[in-house]
Amino acid sequence: MKVVLDHVGIAVKDLRAALAFYHEALGLEIEAPEEVTSQRVRAHFIPTGESKLELLEATSSESAIARYVDKRGPGLHHITLRVDDLGAALEQLKARGVKLIDEQPRPGAEHALVAFIHPSSAHGVLVELKQPRVVNNSKVHRYTLGDLELISVCDGFFMLDGGQMFGVVPKVLWSKKMPADDRNRVQFAMRCLIVRGRRTMLIDAGMGDKENQKFLDMYGADRSRTLDHTLAEAGLTPEDIDIVLATHLHFDHAGGFTVRGADGKVRPRFPRAQYVARRGEWEDAMHPNARSRASYFFDNYVPLAEAGVLQLIDEDQTIMPGVKVRRTGGHTMHHQMAIIESGGRTAAFAGELIASMAHLPEGWIMAYDLYPLDTLAAKGTFIKEAIERETLIFFDHDPLVPAAYIREENGKRRFVPAREP
Ligand SMILES: [Zn+2]
Ligand SMILES: [Zn+2]
Repeated sequence: MKVVLDHVGIAVKDLRAALAFYHEALGLEIEAPEEVTSQRVRAHFIPTGESKLELLEATSSESAIARYVDKRGPGLHHITLRVDDLGAALEQLKARGVKLIDEQPRPGAEHALVAFIHPSSAHGVLVELKQPRVVNNSKVHRYTLGDLELISVCDGFFMLDGGQMFGVVPKVLWSKKMPADDRNRVQFAMRCLIVRGRRTMLIDAGMGDKENQKFLDMYGADRSRTLDHTLAEAGLTPEDIDIVLATHLHFDHAGGFTVRGADGKVRPRFPRAQYVARRGEWEDAMHPNARSRASYFFDNYVPLAEAGVLQLIDEDQTIMPGVKVRRTGGHTMHHQMAIIESGGRTAAFAGELIASMAHLPEGWIMAYDLYPLDTLAAKGTFIKEAIERETLIFFDHDPLVPAAYIREENGKRRFVPAREP
């Protein structure tokens, strides 16, 4: 684990006096303050070369900083170490019996993910671990399921409004799980799944590369690494894909089904592939309404039908040995997930049914969902089944984790990220 000193946190009681010392006496520049609502503090960062000082001022008497200052007076509060992969770092520390204050990453200042280590395990120092804003490293993640190889690939990142992604859940709750930017947007990945058996299937394909800069800016799209890169890293070319399966036809899943050629014509991106979509989804995508229009772009799927490579299915069925589709409805009337079975084990590409680790609670349903009560019912059934069968669940949008298991202990459910073999 690579560890870099990010900053030293200093609890202050009289901010003006503290600023007078650091700014006027020491001559340091102070950055604009930032509110960290989840911790009820205002943070003032002071760059000092590679690292920073962070002056922490409580914004509520309930804040941990207020309690700290009351008890011990102002002074050194914590040190922050930067790591590349906070989830992996926490796993490593847990495995060594280190006592953690936060078992899961949570949002901190500067849109980072943070977690605290208990001072009793760090020789009296409160240590904060920090992973800077998710970087588009879109690594390939490989898993084995019986005779099948499952490879999680990624078509880069984009930003969606946090409210739209969590529906009726208040921001004070969801923002603890996923930090929002100053435009209230949360960063998500566009993950797709390769299933390799005798044939090679790709499930969903991200947003693709047909959209213009204005669109990419609106969605804060990070296309520095895309499905092209991750497919290549998985050792695959577009010619290797036999089947492309659509959970549904929204742009962040179907955009990558087609490419615009040098002649300006849009054509299927995977030249040998048979594409499979649900007939009801196709019909809805062909007749979008005011509510669904922003997500359905004809260029993503009409060229498939024109090229004669699109197969529309009406029922739940086996698409290739070991891979079945199951209609979930909810997100769209005909949204489907893929259930993958081999060697007595089960995996699922859940699509929008559970888009990220944060979407585990049954009521945490996207505002995008057209039929949220159908999502609720399908999610309840699927989660029960996934716990019983120890299903390896692949996420379509989690920014950090490609796949996880659900564990239930004392009636409490949590995701445990899957380890790669
Ligand atoms: Zn969708
Ligand atoms: Zn989506």
